[in-house]
This record gives sequence, C-alpha cells and structure tokens, in this order.
Amino acid sequence: MPVDGAKSAPRAKPCPICGKPQVEASKPFCSERCRDVDLNRWLSGSYAIPARESDEDDDMDEPK
Ligand SMILES: [Zn+2]
Repeated sequence: MPVDGAKSAPRAKPCPICGKPQVEASKPFCSERCRDVDLNRWLSGSYAIPARESDEDDDMDEPK
C-alpha cells in the first residue's frame, strides 16, 4: 500500500479573504494585501459602522 500523504498540500486552507491558496509567507492568507484587508476588517469591526439605509437621493425626482 503506497502511503503518499504529501500530495499537493492536503491541508492547505484557502485564503479567508479571496479564497486563493494561501502563501507560506503570508499565512493564513494568500498575500500581504489580503492580510491587510483582514486586519482592516477586524479593526473596523470594533467600531459600530452606521447603517446607510436611506443614503439614496429620493428627492431627486425625475421630471414628468
Ligand atoms: Zn487572498
């Protein structure tokens, strides 16, 4: 029975940000950019981001 466990990185989780294969240097992300995105996401998560529900300009009615 050939026990070949090292076959194309069996435990390689994808980047949580974009889903690409993670890179050894930027684990668990695929790049430093995604690591930065995650950091920003985490930081902004500490703050309560105001919901922009009525952000659309409804008073700009089209002339009929
Ligand atoms: Zn990524």
